[in-house]
Amino acid sequence: MKEGIHPKYYKAKVICTSCGAEFETGSTLPEIRVDSCSNCHPFYTGRQRFAQAAGQVEKFNKKYGLK
Ligand SMILES: [Zn+2]
Repeated sequence: MKEGIHPKYYKAKVICTSCGAEFETGSTLPEIRVDSCSNCHPFYTGRQRFAQAAGQVEKFNKKYGLK
């Protein structure tokens, strides 16, 4: 590899801000924060999390006058 043109490659710690899960991956950043991960995302868990979703839907319905 040519010297000086490549960013530093870290063993990055990924932290999920939703469920607190931590895992490691490779990245040019030493730490990555994500909102959703494979541990808590509905696509992987197979169940809905209504805590956040409900608020968004209500806001949308209110904004457009829907019930
Ligand atoms: Zn998560």
